[in-house]
Amino acid sequence: MSGTTSQATEHSANQSDSPPGDARAILRVDLAALRGNFRILKSAAAPAECAAVVKADAYGLGIAPVAAALATEGCSTFFVASLGEAKRLRSLQASIDIFVLDGLINGCAADYAAHALRPVLGSLAEIAEWSAYCASIGKKLAAALHIDTGMSRLGLPSDEAAALFQDTSALNTFELVLIMSHLACADTLGDPKTEAQRAAFDAACARLPDAPRSLANSAGTLGGSSLHYDLVRPGIALFGGRAINDSPNPMAPVAYVSARVLQVRNVAPGETVGYGATYRVTQPSRIATVALGYADGYLRSIVGGPGPPNPCISIAGQRVPIVGRVSMDMTALDVTEVPEDLVARGEFVEMMGADLSVDDLADHAGTIGYEILTRLGSRLHRHYVTD
Ligand SMILES: *Cc1c(COP(=O)(O)O)cnc(C)c1O
Repeated sequence: MSGTTSQATEHSANQSDSPPGDARAILRVDLAALRGNFRILKSAAAPAECAAVVKADAYGLGIAPVAAALATEGCSTFFVASLGEAKRLRSLQASIDIFVLDGLINGCAADYAAHALRPVLGSLAEIAEWSAYCASIGKKLAAALHIDTGMSRLGLPSDEAAALFQDTSALNTFELVLIMSHLACADTLGDPKTEAQRAAFDAACARLPDAPRSLANSAGTLGGSSLHYDLVRPGIALFGGRAINDSPNPMAPVAYVSARVLQVRNVAPGETVGYGATYRVTQPSRIATVALGYADGYLRSIVGGPGPPNPCISIAGQRVPIVGRVSMDMTALDVTEVPEDLVARGEFVEMMGADLSVDDLADHAGTIGYEILTRLGSRLHRHYVTD
């Protein structure tokens, strides 16, 4: 482990799969923290069931280790976006329930059936196609029904829902295992849209056959029991992201990014750092260049975006600002205040994690933690730690 700081080694000391000696940047995924977050959500949701949303490769963190860790905690219901993600998850986990949020892709019903996948049916056309497929094989296969209550995205729009309320017989042609809808504004506590969606969901369920119901994402899970129904569907909170704005985040960070220092140099007053010469040094300074850039998902807008100007990481207790523009493969840090032996070529510095959180970075870049996580690039060495 030569060439790595205590930050990188401490968490991997008893791992057999330490990052390779030539790693330039590392995404460390703390699976113990993930499991702890699941337990927090599960107890917040009880007696409702706590499922896990693991679309987009588990929010960029890797579906195989994430699903395995959650299954160990007893999570048995998973949601993914696409049929492809669902097939991959099925190959990893044989006995869990898997819902496909895209719904039923036309012409692919047999594929869902072959892998025991459950489409989240979101239109009359999808219901008809699933019904016809079930009739053709003589089996009532499981599916969820998605009613739109205010997203105007997927789910039965109100005219289609009204038609279904008039004649629900199609719902007897397959096994209706879940009725669900999705909240638009649950990240803002007390937003009246949430209450309107809850009321619309209740009204819809009253006109549909009895089945388990689900409305809450992470924010709905943490925001109060009136949204829990029978099953909650958290995603971002599992991965340590902030679900509810302007309130303390009870979740532990799961994703840590650290980058190798490539060079440290003295820079004289008047010199500039990086593209566009946007940062001018005003006193004798030391600038460290680390191997992490926007090609790795360290967004260019993190510096000079709508947030406060220079995000700071922390090295040996010192606040260290990111300076100049983030480039494709590199980012510069002003390490003038850090003792020289603590930041040298080959050391790793934490660029996202406990001090500079995923949501801090998102705030700087004018985006959300979801986007920061799902853009973390394939060039990062992914390192999974379990304790
Ligand atoms: C992504 C998604 C979730 C999870 O949302 P989070 O805000 O990440 O908790 C739940 N339900 C549906 C339908 C989704 O698309």
